[in-house]
Amino acid sequence: MKILGYRDADYESFVKRLNRRALPTHDVRDLVADIIAEVAGQGDKALVAYAKRFDNVELNAKKLFITPEELADVKVAPSTKKAVAASLKNIIAFAKGGLRKDWSMINAEGARVGERFQPFDRVGVYVPGGKAPLVSTALMTAGFAKAAGVPEIIAATPCGPDGKVNPELLYALKAAGVTEILKIGGAQAIAALALGTKTVKPVDRLFGPGNRFVVEAKRQLFGAVSIDLLPGPSEVLIISDKTGNPDYIAADLLAQAEHGGDSVIGFITDSKALIGKVVKAVEKQLLTLNRAKYIKEVLKQGTFILNVRNMAEAVEISNAFASEHVSLICADEKKWLPQIRTAGAIYLGNNSPVAVGDFLAGPSHTLPTGGSGRSFSGLRADQFQRRTSIVKLDKKSVRKSLEVVQEFARIEGLDAHGRSTAIRVE
Ligand code: NAD
Repeated sequence: MKILGYRDADYESFVKRLNRRALPTHDVRDLVADIIAEVAGQGDKALVAYAKRFDNVELNAKKLFITPEELADVKVAPSTKKAVAASLKNIIAFAKGGLRKDWSMINAEGARVGERFQPFDRVGVYVPGGKAPLVSTALMTAGFAKAAGVPEIIAATPCGPDGKVNPELLYALKAAGVTEILKIGGAQAIAALALGTKTVKPVDRLFGPGNRFVVEAKRQLFGAVSIDLLPGPSEVLIISDKTGNPDYIAADLLAQAEHGGDSVIGFITDSKALIGKVVKAVEKQLLTLNRAKYIKEVLKQGTFILNVRNMAEAVEISNAFASEHVSLICADEKKWLPQIRTAGAIYLGNNSPVAVGDFLAGPSHTLPTGGSGRSFSGLRADQFQRRTSIVKLDKKSVRKSLEVVQEFARIEGLDAHGRSTAIRVE
């Protein structure tokens, strides 16, 4: 853990580096570009080769999808069914609240102008499966597609070395309305969904989180398809004044750290005493957790704890860092909450564990990471809707529009534009 106070010599330079930009490293960028080119050229053959190379599984190029029989045979515990149903209920209700409805107005010249929203015809959702079967991510992506009424939802997720996908994950995908499941993970899956292969029909829009290879593939394929956002390795930034409960703060830090790999966890406080208590609680709680191996990696490389001068400085650092999750624990929520502007999601107070948002609360846990929260928001239901504007004029509104249209046509040297409007009222 990197622990720094505002009086330390390297404090200012460390804080400066937290103002990050979501850009890939050269090696990841080049590797992903190669993977995309291979999938574009070799199609399913490349998917089979990368599954062997990165996921250690022998697949048949004609059997890259979960079959209807496999799906029908999926058996899960009643407690799993209950948990999936409870989470999906909140997700669908929340998602429906975020859907856009058609609307129109009359403009200054009397034309009717409006927007129409329809679900995309076919979307792809990536569900990570490298380190853990992210059953909740299946719901937090496909559930939103279902709420928006998307008819074709294809999910991609890596299978294990036996060619199988975790049954709970399959159950959740089915419950969330997924219509096809591709057993491929990583950048190669993203390329297949975006570009299509002999067996994979390409999608209109791509959704979902993943590791740095998945995120980079989405970035490079933007244009071939549209994407939701850049949701990469998980992060949490906890901001607390002296009112924070050290055991709860430690528990939330450890919960994010168990994603392992490139995850980042941060804790910022103006209370030096709280830092000591949180560090002790982290050490104590770590002893009781299963994924200590992943957590230790993150504690070693991806953890920072800062003792700041005051809450204003904490908020300023948070806005520069643009964390996926921000927990805000302070006596004066009304003052500080509006000032946190770049977080993917904000959790308020001592009693709001990020894990409840991860699994159950309703808003999607698919959120921008790596500093991309400065310009992207978390996944929303209306991203599954195609927005089309509609314009309708009558003779009267054409007549009223003519003078302005003709002036623009003159300035831009586009006389056919002016003519096409004038002809309607001559
Ligand atoms: P993943 O499914 O994203 O990645 C696994 C795939 O990566 C494998 O199938 C493999 O094909 C490929 N891969 C592995 N090593 C590779 C290499 N060296 N080169 C190229 N490709 C390689 O699963 P994961 O690795 O467990 O990562 C999931 C990530 O998603 C975690 O970091 C987690 O924090 C993040 N996540 C983020 C959000 C969010 O909203 N931001 C939500 C859920 C999960």
